Amino acid sequence: MTLLLARKIRLLLASGTILLAFALAMAAHAQDLPPPQPSPLPGLNYDQPFFPNAQDDPNVPTPDSILGFPVGSKPATHAQIEAVFKAIAAKSPRAKLFVYGKTHEGRALYYMVIASEANLNRLDSLKVNLAKFADPRKVSKEEGDRLAATLPAVAWMAYCIHGNEMSGSDASLAVAYHLAAGTGAELTNLLDKLVVIIDPLMNPDGRDRCLNMEAQNRTVQPSVDDQSMLHSGVWPSGRMNHYLFDMNRDWIFATQPETRGRIRAVHEWNPHYFMESHEMESQSTFLFLPGREAVNLNQPDNVRKWEVAFAQDQAAAFDTHVWRYYTGEWNDDWYPGYSSSWSALRGAVANLYEEAGIHTDAVRREEGTLETYREAVHKQLVSTMANLTFLAKNRQAVLSDFLAEKRKCVGPDASIPAHTFAVLASANATRQRRFLDLMALEGFEVYAAGESFTAQGKDRLGREVKDMKFPAGTLLIPVRQPLARLLNSMLEFDPRPIPQFLTDERRDLLRIGRSRIYDITGWSLPMMFDVQAFDLPTDLPSEAQAKLASNTPPAQAPMTNSDAGVAFVIDGADDASVAAAGRLMERGVGVRVADKPFQFDHHDFSRGSVLITRKDNANFAGPLTGVVSNVCAELSLTAVGVRTGFGPGDLPDLGGEHFTFLKQPRIAIFGREPIAAYSYGSTWYLIDHVLGLRASYLDAQYISSTDLRRYNVLVLPDGAGANSLKSGMDSLKDWVSAGGTLVAIGSSAGAFAREKSGFGATRQLPNVLGKMDDYRQAVVREWEASQTTPDPAKVWAFSPPAALSYPWQIGESDDKEKEDELKRRDAWRAIFMPEGALLAGRVDDQSWLTAGCGEYLPLIYSGRTILLSPPSVQAPVRLGFFSPAPPKPPEAASSTESKDKKKDDAKPAPGWTIAPPGFEMRLRMSGLLWPEAADRLANAAYVTRQSVGSGQLILFASDPTFRGAALGTSRIFANAVTLGPGMGASEAIKP
Ligand SMILES: [Zn+2]
Repeated sequence: MTLLLARKIRLLLASGTILLAFALAMAAHAQDLPPPQPSPLPGLNYDQPFFPNAQDDPNVPTPDSILGFPVGSKPATHAQIEAVFKAIAAKSPRAKLFVYGKTHEGRALYYMVIASEANLNRLDSLKVNLAKFADPRKVSKEEGDRLAATLPAVAWMAYCIHGNEMSGSDASLAVAYHLAAGTGAELTNLLDKLVVIIDPLMNPDGRDRCLNMEAQNRTVQPSVDDQSMLHSGVWPSGRMNHYLFDMNRDWIFATQPETRGRIRAVHEWNPHYFMESHEMESQSTFLFLPGREAVNLNQPDNVRKWEVAFAQDQAAAFDTHVWRYYTGEWNDDWYPGYSSSWSALRGAVANLYEEAGIHTDAVRREEGTLETYREAVHKQLVSTMANLTFLAKNRQAVLSDFLAEKRKCVGPDASIPAHTFAVLASANATRQRRFLDLMALEGFEVYAAGESFTAQGKDRLGREVKDMKFPAGTLLIPVRQPLARLLNSMLEFDPRPIPQFLTDERRDLLRIGRSRIYDITGWSLPMMFDVQAFDLPTDLPSEAQAKLASNTPPAQAPMTNSDAGVAFVIDGADDASVAAAGRLMERGVGVRVADKPFQFDHHDFSRGSVLITRKDNANFAGPLTGVVSNVCAELSLTAVGVRTGFGPGDLPDLGGEHFTFLKQPRIAIFGREPIAAYSYGSTWYLIDHVLGLRASYLDAQYISSTDLRRYNVLVLPDGAGANSLKSGMDSLKDWVSAGGTLVAIGSSAGAFAREKSGFGATRQLPNVLGKMDDYRQAVVREWEASQTTPDPAKVWAFSPPAALSYPWQIGESDDKEKEDELKRRDAWRAIFMPEGALLAGRVDDQSWLTAGCGEYLPLIYSGRTILLSPPSVQAPVRLGFFSPAPPKPPEAASSTESKDKKKDDAKPAPGWTIAPPGFEMRLRMSGLLWPEAADRLANAAYVTRQSVGSGQLILFASDPTFRGAALGTSRIFANAVTLGPGMGASEAIKP
């Protein structure tokens, strides 16, 4: 009872009022019964001290005193972690706190530098020397040796990039305090040799989301069942950031503010050691590096060498605590966008901690024992201190190797042969800016050709190009620079793992039906971003007169010819033109989009260009030019005023059918179960953050009870299947028929491509194995439609032909095999489906969906959905680009030709099953695509569009907005959701 309450009661009694009031007060109080005490759970209290016998500076407040609970007894929130670090920085002469960014939800991102007082007082000059040390072009042999002997090693220790893998952040509180407040010779010695940088919490939004879930599922009784929601969390979990990006994949794409801030900070410090901590499956033990095998051939040798040495030391530290651990096994570094692979490619000795995941309390292990949260924190802490101590002990050797490795990146005996990536200038200025921005952020030196030059090399499809003329302004990125290995990993067209990896992978697929590959196998930046790039086998070509390129292109006027009377045009080559269309419609401006290239007023404009005509906006309240100009300024676009709508020659005129008036999209995206969180997240990010359009975000479990009439665009990201969409399918079909644009992705698209439970005529491959000729016919017809030239003699003949020739041949395929053999074969092929490979899509340039695309489109393909479309369905992008077949080399023709010729003569010419005569299909661009999967995917549709009633169904076989980085396919998706209601569907005119 509080004093106040007691006084109130006394007053009431004194005033003579009222036993009743007293009784009520007591009754109300009596309901606050304390919960039953938990039954004792042996092993729940873990009491090993973190730093036994530590002597600390009493001026620095302890984390416990700030938190109000002992460190490690439960996970601290972002605000609590922030408070502890601020308190330490305020009092310790050895610690400084820096803000390096802000999350989408507005939480600050910090790193703390802890060093000897002497070093802490000269951080700026230290940084200058560290930068020099990371660029051997700037240091002589003597100076390099001197710096290696005198510089402190920089250890970057980062925790909790996955918000629901929490123990590391709590360990970082105790470590930071120990380093900043501890006394004694051992610690002084350590800090003389190291600059320790602690990033205590890389993903504050995810962690707080996880802790909110934990609070919601909190029980009074301790929970030790790792399947319980207290431990497992609920959709979408706390792993990702606000827009559900996995930031431990984002280092090479840098789409998220957290990543961008970190990359800048790492670039400022050039660390020699880089650790980041995670948690994994609860029943596991503890993993650290090295990874399974050196799969990424760009990894420097010194890193691997030191990873092994650090591992032996860390293992010894674990042995003294009798903790189990392992290295290698599932972890590989092929994908360069993890924290550990990215930092190693920068030259740092990398480490990764993976502790068995325990959210709070403890987890019951299969051995019957409990592993507590505090013990998990303790393991992260022991690992951290062991690594720091070992680094201090080996400081000079680690630094010398670091410099030697850097010399290999720039020197004449470099391990990566000299070559240069050439990227052509593009009318898609937004895309080009994005590419340049990423190159600058990662610290790569990019040059621009001052003169045109001629060179040979390879294009992104793996084709040789000879004597190609590259215009002035071409971007040139030579690998001979200090960050050669990271640069090469990010940009190289066709990375290959060691041969043994391929063998092991194939055997695993056949033995256990599961891939050993931990992430995607194709990520090449020029393909992901879809910029026209070439790989030239030389250092910077001298005739190009290259100069360092500016990454801040000159600002352009948002409007030209503002007094032009007819219309303003925003060129459709630029990705941001789609955002402009959507944002202008939100402001009430009437907008048209061109489905063909055109020329007005001596200006050439691309397909997809956005037009704002004076006539359409006759009733627009307010200054039209002001609104158009503002929207263009926001998006760095230019609206060109034109004085005529007359297109010369056969080019379209403004009043014809090629300038469709758009309908404002009213977009809704379905999320939550069963939608895949990543797919939802990148879709959400694109619409909300890149296009900047208003949208509604709905619960996929309530499709049938949602009033869908409010929307004219619905998006179903990847993840749903036929069963989960069953109850909503009828409402969706009615809604589409009434004029809606439905966009579905991956397995959710697959749910519509089913004869009985879906709608539309697209089908999934396994369901039509015996009818492949029907679908191939669509492929042949599309090709004929784009290529055919009729023979006038046949057309103007007066008699019908004796026999009509068809562009396909009966008996081309194996479809006549028995049904069960076809199924067996397809099941075999299905074993080898890609774990995210970059494939070439051929683009139908007549479809409004592909505005902004080139003749082929690199696309990242993963998942198991394979879409086939009959002639009644459009396939704006299909898998496989038809490239003119190179002439056969003469020697091949002479020796084997006679035999082959005989075989060919024996049966009719094969026409084509994969590629038309005279062409070859280029399908795999980058990454692992087994021949069986290639055979399965060739000619399948990547995206289909079909009219259904007054509306349309648009299906993507794989995720077009992948990681916010697949810019080529994102454009198609952006076209679909923004232009869809006007371009492919129709709504009634409202009287
Ligand atoms: Zn993780």
